[in-house]
Amino acid sequence: MQPAIPDNEGERLEALRGLNILDTPPEASFDDLTHIARYIAGTPLALIGLIDADREWFKSVDRATLRDAERDHTFCAHAILTPDRPTYVPDARKDPRFADNPNVVAVEPPTLFYYGAPLVTADGLPLGTLCVVDHQPRTLDIEQREALDALARQVMRLIVLGQREQQLHREQEAREVILAHLEHRNQELEALAGELRVRADTDKLSRLGNRSAFDARLEEDLVLTRDHESPLSLVLLDLDRFKPCNDRFGHQVGDRVIRTFADILRSVSRPTDFIARYGGDEFAIILPLADRRAATEVAKRVLDAVERADFSPCDTRTSVGVASLEPPRREDRGDDLLREADQALYAAKAAGRGCIAVCDGQSDDIHVIKRPESESG
Ligand code: GH3
Ligand code: MG
Repeated sequence: MQPAIPDNEGERLEALRGLNILDTPPEASFDDLTHIARYIAGTPLALIGLIDADREWFKSVDRATLRDAERDHTFCAHAILTPDRPTYVPDARKDPRFADNPNVVAVEPPTLFYYGAPLVTADGLPLGTLCVVDHQPRTLDIEQREALDALARQVMRLIVLGQREQQLHREQEAREVILAHLEHRNQELEALAGELRVRADTDKLSRLGNRSAFDARLEEDLVLTRDHESPLSLVLLDLDRFKPCNDRFGHQVGDRVIRTFADILRSVSRPTDFIARYGGDEFAIILPLADRRAATEVAKRVLDAVERADFSPCDTRTSVGVASLEPPRREDRGDDLLREADQALYAAKAAGRGCIAVCDGQSDDIHVIKRPESESG
């Protein structure tokens, strides 16, 4: 007799597939239970079978090498039609459901005894059986049958536990993926924040620090050098007669001059110096740990590099003002150092441009150093 299809077959298959057990590898914990079942019943075969759409798939078989069987020929396909009780078949030849079953009449050795304890979900949906099978008719006493029923409940518990474990594992994996993603996003945001900070402090044209970055840095370095009783110098530079160069050759040429000049300033400074474009054609270098003499040397290197540089078609030079605090005192302010350097720069312009003027911090005297070319010319 062909086994009927349960009324709730769709729901049943959905529950079975939701447990993610079909086609999984053999597991010792299930094999232990079939082994015990076989021992309890004293049969040659015990199986944990699950009824899929067209087949019975075996999670565990003690002792045979079966993976699956055609659903319509299995005893288990009949057993799931009565999920509230076991299917007990002492002699299949005398049971109308199985008398013409190919496993009874056409297979050698035939299946003549079957006891299937149902595997049922908490919602009452039958998935399959824990069954014991023999090739000859047999009976089981009530204790054997009850023990097999109890064992079937353990099989079901094991299936559900396995599914929960898988779910926890998947959730853990998902959490790790999300965490890694969030961490990556944070790194990106940190990098972006750093980039924005740099952008906010940087002059776009020259790629040097801008005025506000200069102001902040001067205050910082003033405190730092004062605390360590070290000198702090400031070099201010302004391009000479830059306006006529702009007017005559255009802003693009002027911009190129500014960029080239910025490169010169970068090439003469140390990594600890801070270079800024202070305004239009005015630049500044903050030199912590450099006294007046060292700062003047840097200024000379700038003039030398400007001399060698190609600003064509402009013939650009620069004037330089130097001021130092050796070291800064508690009452010294960044503004005072800036004013002194500015006065020196003004003096350099007044002295004919293309030269360096150094402010003497003690006397406020300004000493102008002419370039060698100017001195000889
Ligand atoms: P001085 O020798 O006394 O310094 O005179 P100067 O011609 O250099 O004139 P000044 O320093 O007073 O003026 C600066 C000029 O710099 C004005 C403007 O034409 C030019 N300038 C300012 N910002 C920019 C800029 O971003 N790009 C260009 N191409 N030119 C600028
Ligand atoms: Mg100028």
